[in-house]
This record gives sequence, C-alpha cells and structure tokens, in this order.
Amino acid sequence: MATTPQPKPKVHISNQAVTLQNWYKHINWLSTILVILVPAYGLYAVRYVPLQRPTAIWALVYYFLTGFGITGGYHRLWSHRCYSARAPLRYVLAFVGAGAVQGSIRFWSSKHRAHHRWTDTEKDPYDALKGFFYSHLGWMLFNQDPKKIGRTDISDLDADPLVIWQHKNYGKTLLMAAWIFPMCVAGLGWGDWWGGLVYAGIIRACFVQQATFCVNSLAHWIGEQPFDDRRTPRDHFLTAIVTLGEGYHNFHHEFPSDYRNAIIWYQYDPTKWVIYALSKIGLTYNLKLFRDNEIQKGRLQQLQKKLDKRRAKLDWGIPLSQLPVISWDDFQSQCASGEAVLVAIAGVIHDISEFVNEHPGGKALIKSAIGKDATALFNGGVYEHSNAAHNLLSTMRVGVLRGGQEVEVWKQETGIPLKDAAGKLIVRAGEQVTRIQPLTMTASAA
Ligand SMILES: [Zn+2]
Ligand SMILES: [Zn+2]
Repeated sequence: MATTPQPKPKVHISNQAVTLQNWYKHINWLSTILVILVPAYGLYAVRYVPLQRPTAIWALVYYFLTGFGITGGYHRLWSHRCYSARAPLRYVLAFVGAGAVQGSIRFWSSKHRAHHRWTDTEKDPYDALKGFFYSHLGWMLFNQDPKKIGRTDISDLDADPLVIWQHKNYGKTLLMAAWIFPMCVAGLGWGDWWGGLVYAGIIRACFVQQATFCVNSLAHWIGEQPFDDRRTPRDHFLTAIVTLGEGYHNFHHEFPSDYRNAIIWYQYDPTKWVIYALSKIGLTYNLKLFRDNEIQKGRLQQLQKKLDKRRAKLDWGIPLSQLPVISWDDFQSQCASGEAVLVAIAGVIHDISEFVNEHPGGKALIKSAIGKDATALFNGGVYEHSNAAHNLLSTMRVGVLRGGQEVEVWKQETGIPLKDAAGKLIVRAGEQVTRIQPLTMTASAA
C-alpha cells in the first residue's frame, strides 16, 4: 500500500545553526530596532542637539515616571498583583509603561510570570544560566522558539479591558508615550522640540530599558542570597539603585506577591515608597505584605543551611556508629602493654598519645588516667573540663567500650539527635557525648 509522504516538521530558526544565508532570520528585528538601533541613533544625535537645562530635568523626571510604569505598573501591579490601583492611576501606568519601550503589559507580564515559574530552566524566557548577555539582551535580540518558553496563566490580564486595549494599540501608544509626548512637553513648554525627542524621548527610554534589563541580568548575578540559594536571584543595593528598588531580587523571587522588594526601611526601594504614598491618597489599596513570621522562617532556614556548610568543614571526630567496639579487657591490655595510650570517658575510648604532652593540666594528671575510665575525673571529679576540651576530645576518639555506657551512646546516635540537612550530627555546646551531669546533681536527681 502506498503511503503519502509526511511533510517534514519545520525546525524553528532558533534550533538551526547560524549561517551566512540565514543569520538575519535569527534576529528579532523589531526588538533590535527598539532596543539597539533607535537608542544608537539617539546617542549619535547628541552631537547635533545641545542639551538644555529644562530638557535635562524633564528627561530625568520622565525617566522616573516611565521607570515606575515598569516597576510599579508592569511588574508589581500587573505581573504579580501585589496591590490594586484605581482607574486613573492604571491609565497613567499603562501609558508611561508603554513609554519605557519594553512591549505591552500583556507581553511583558506573561514573560515575567514564566520567568518566575521556570526560573533558571529552558522554559525561563530570560534564563540567567545562559549567561549575562543572554539574560540582559540576547533573549530579545534573537528569535526564541515559542514552544520552549513555559506557559503561564494570564487569564486575569485577558479579562482586563485596559490591558487588552493597550496590547491591541501598542504601536500607537508606544509612539505617543515614548517619543511624541516627551517631545511635545519640551517643544510646547520651552521650544526644545529636538531636545525633547532626543533626550527625554530616545535616550531616556534607552536608560529605562537598560535599567530594567539589569533586573534579569545583574539581579541574577551579584549579591547575597538571604532566603534561598538554590537558584540565581540575588539581593544587591547596586541593582536596587539602578532599578528603582527592584534589586532585592532574592526576596522578590521568594515572596513575589509582596508589594515590597526591600523590607528593611533603609534599603532603597522608591517603587515601594511611591506605592505606599499613593495608598495614602487613595490611588492604591490592598497592598500585600507577606507575614513577617514566614519571611523570618525563610531567612533562618537559609542561615541554617550556611551554618551546615561551615559545620561540615570542621572535624567533629569519627561518628560513634563508625567506631569499633572494644572490650574493657582489650582496652586495658593495650594500655598495659604500651601498645596504645587510651582513656575511656563516658563509654568512648580516646587515643591521647599525641596529646599527653599538650595537656594544659600537666602530664602527671592525664597519665594517671591512661587505661582507666576517666568519666568522673574529666567531668568535675578533678576538673570540670571546658566546652572546648570536650570538642577537642571528640577528635581523639577511636573506639566505643563494650558494656558500660555503650548502650547510652548508641541511644544518642539512633534516638532523636539533631542532624543537619546532610544528615550529619549537630553537636551543640555542652551536649557532647563525653559530657555527663556532675555527680552531685545526678545524686540529688536520684
Ligand atoms: Zn528574576
Ligand atoms: Zn517579579
């Protein structure tokens, strides 16, 4: 039976090698024009358009307005619903956000939700593991295979008439908000039409773009990870300075629905301050805060993880469960024959041959304990040894005594001892196995 030939499945351009014939197909030309070529023209035009003082001030003001359109609008309002905004503010944010030249709210937020859901994976549209350049710019300049990018729920955005209107009319809104409006303000205001277009329009947009892109690159590159170090997001004040406060990115990835990025009052987060100030005049409401209890839990768990790493680097002695069990007779005969220099304390046998000469209490005392059970002597009988002494002692252990306190020792290993994430025993100060209660206390307890 004849079979009809199946059409070859089309391979997306991003999955094909770059060649002299196809290189231009790899490039996302619309993004390249808006992010590279137009800003390049603006920087070139600087040579011919003198910068006037009012235009410089206006460019700076419009930089903050359009920047806030992204951080306060696109990001915290629409992508994460960290707070609610009244209609007039939402119109303004949709307008100035478009003036930041980073796509529509719908485009930006769907990509951003995918970034949060699939951070550091193939499905993350700006996967930081693909390198600084890729997460900063590369993902926009080169065509991505849309099938590879993770899908997220944007039904709430599709139900928002303003978001849909802005998406459908993005071209016009962009022209207006990015270039025509700032040009008209400077032109009608003080007659500097060209300056308005070049400085408050093109160059200002270029700065807002590069600042925002730093959240995807720099904020996944430099700084601390106080909440979770399993993925790349980081906290750094430099990123915060550049991005109107979006620099506490480790916190943000852990608690994305919190309207804050910085949670400490002195950390730089002007976006949070503006959202808060607007709530005082009724333009924003329902500002979401994660419970401090949950935030502190995350911080503590990460601290514990760091402690575990530091603890794992130290010598805590061979775990008791890995030590050989030695009989009392063997222990004594080894010492008597001079074969070994051992001391038993709390059912654990220690090789003190290297330590005899170092003993701060003198050689004679420690020598008198060789081949004996020095539990009581060590724990106050002669001297109540310090925490450091118990720690040091644990590094000398070589065996576990059969009988005696051995049973109790096993209990400590198999009962409910504290263990770190890697399953290693945590020995707290004053809780070493060699430490027993002073005899007087034991007697009174009995
Ligand atoms: Zn991120
Ligand atoms: Zn986010």
